[in-house]
Amino acid sequence: MKINDYILQAKFPNEEATLKQSAFLVNIRLYKSSEHYRDLINNIIKYLGWYLSSAFEGYERPRGISAAVLGIPLSIIGYKDTWQKNRFYINAKIAAHSDLKNTVRSNCECYQLNQPTQTYRYSTIDLEFYDLNGHKVIQKNIGYAEGSYVIQHELNHCYGKTIVEKDE
Ligand SMILES: [Zn+2]
Repeated sequence: MKINDYILQAKFPNEEATLKQSAFLVNIRLYKSSEHYRDLINNIIKYLGWYLSSAFEGYERPRGISAAVLGIPLSIIGYKDTWQKNRFYINAKIAAHSDLKNTVRSNCECYQLNQPTQTYRYSTIDLEFYDLNGHKVIQKNIGYAEGSYVIQHELNHCYGKTIVEKDE
């Protein structure tokens, strides 16, 4: 399987323009009240799960994904936690973060840079999101081991921020 067949690619100008747009929030009221809307969103989440469990030519197994890079402009992210279990967050945002930022080298499946680029990640974050029952959750003190850096990368995709932007 080729990753380019599934992930938006910045080398195509129209796709790069899409990558720089903010994703829409999932409407939680409708997620709770309409079984059809919920089915649609849950199918998108299944697609994210499929991606996280797949192997692509020339790539390590994915650790994180956002609906936005799959061409679905909604604020939904998924990642593998410490126990390799897939977790999904709807409308996630950073509620608080450590003062400390760490310099990291990062690459992105949309850019496929020859050399990873330098960027910054907060050491720990508190994340506010909706779970798959439409309940608001605040998860505190998520560190590197719990996937904090991956979450920050995927959240940036929801905001239309890319790794080639220097202030990420
Ligand atoms: Zn990326």
